[in-house]
Amino acid sequence: MGKNKKTRKVVMQRFAQMKRMISLSDSRIKPEKRLPSKKTPKEDKTKIKVTEVPQQSSALFFQYNMQLGPPYHILIDTNFINFSIKNKLDIIQNMMECLYAKCTPYITDCVMGELEKLGQKYKLALKIIKDPRFERLKCMHKGTYADDCLVNRVTQHKCYIVATNDKDLKRRIRKIPGVPIMYVSQHRFTIERMPDAYGAPK
Ligand SMILES: [Zn+2]
Repeated sequence: MGKNKKTRKVVMQRFAQMKRMISLSDSRIKPEKRLPSKKTPKEDKTKIKVTEVPQQSSALFFQYNMQLGPPYHILIDTNFINFSIKNKLDIIQNMMECLYAKCTPYITDCVMGELEKLGQKYKLALKIIKDPRFERLKCMHKGTYADDCLVNRVTQHKCYIVATNDKDLKRRIRKIPGVPIMYVSQHRFTIERMPDAYGAPK
């Protein structure tokens, strides 16, 4: 019993010694020898936070974007409609032949606005997209410039394919991960960034 008590006493003494030591960042230590305080400085709420890495969509966790479909949701731009008309390609039918699945084409307010602005010559285009199988998407932005609108939509939601033959828009879309691009080539619809698609270039 005596031995036990002794060890206990030693342990208690050591503990007391340790407790007596001041923290290495204590303000009583000379500033040049003092460690920086572990307390994080208060966050400056006026500063704008900059995230360095763009957030990855969880849909891209799998190699293949799982939110795409089928049924596929396809955002159509003005120029794709005009190319389809020039090539005498029925949009809905050819989309389905390209993807071998049900497709829903979407027309945003701004694309509609662009077509309306183009006037009489594009009357046929307007007639085509007034088909009830074309879904309308409401726009909250001003003006009828569609490129920014489409880019914003596919950045936020990974469920779309973009149908366009516009070089600049294609270039912009390619910078966004997980968004396939449908376009008209050699008198038919084809798709890039979706290698498993039936109609993808082989
Ligand atoms: Zn829009």
